[in-house]
Amino acid sequence: MSFSENLNIVKKQISDAISASEYNNNEVLLVAVSKTHTANEVKNAYDCGVRDFGENRVQELLEKHEVLPDDIKWHMIGHLQTNKVKYIAPFIHMIHSVDSLKLCKEIEKEAAKCDRVIPILLEVNISNEESKYGLMASDVPELLNQIKDFKHIKVNGLMTVAPFTDDIDEVKEVFKNLRQLFLDISDKKLDNVDMNVLSMGMSNDFFYAIEEGSNCVRIGSSLFGTRNYD
Ligand SMILES: *Cc1c(COP(=O)(O)O)cnc(C)c1O
Repeated sequence: MSFSENLNIVKKQISDAISASEYNNNEVLLVAVSKTHTANEVKNAYDCGVRDFGENRVQELLEKHEVLPDDIKWHMIGHLQTNKVKYIAPFIHMIHSVDSLKLCKEIEKEAAKCDRVIPILLEVNISNEESKYGLMASDVPELLNQIKDFKHIKVNGLMTVAPFTDDIDEVKEVFKNLRQLFLDISDKKLDNVDMNVLSMGMSNDFFYAIEEGSNCVRIGSSLFGTRNYD
């Protein structure tokens, strides 16, 4: 199927999930995850009206950024090495995968050089086991405290990758727990924190994520088709 057909299906599923959700997530941002797909495929998606794209490798992101329209909002969704921050700092729209003080310091430094405030999400590893990346939920308050005086980053929310399992209840539990953490942090009204993005949900689980309150889904294979490598 073509990208535009897939896009229509995904949009319909998103609006169905919003209807099924008891939360106030009427506006769900669709980030089209274009990793492994060519700049031409991204341009085709762009021509269908998509403006938010997610990538997980800096080199690939830079190559596409170089040749594609300037009004694309690029989202870094994959593990980010500190030595690569400088390449994306001038233009990145949002970094979803921030999981250490070291990385926060580097983003702060590079954003300052560009005179920007870079919106970030903290990646939380709710289910703890499978993923090597992401903060433990219990480590989030301390990190927020450590970065509260950073002037060039703004914590806009949280991100998680649910475990890859057929156990829907387990997946839903992960989304529920991230939402609760999101609310707990919002309530504290911390400096430097403006919680408005809850980034959870991928091709195989975004319906449940939205049901559980997600307002930002990162969708690759349901839009672009299956990938040859990851
Ligand atoms: C690849 C990736 C996605 C998209 O995955 P699909 O299953 O293709 O929708 C979403 N989030 C992250 C962090 C990813 O690495």
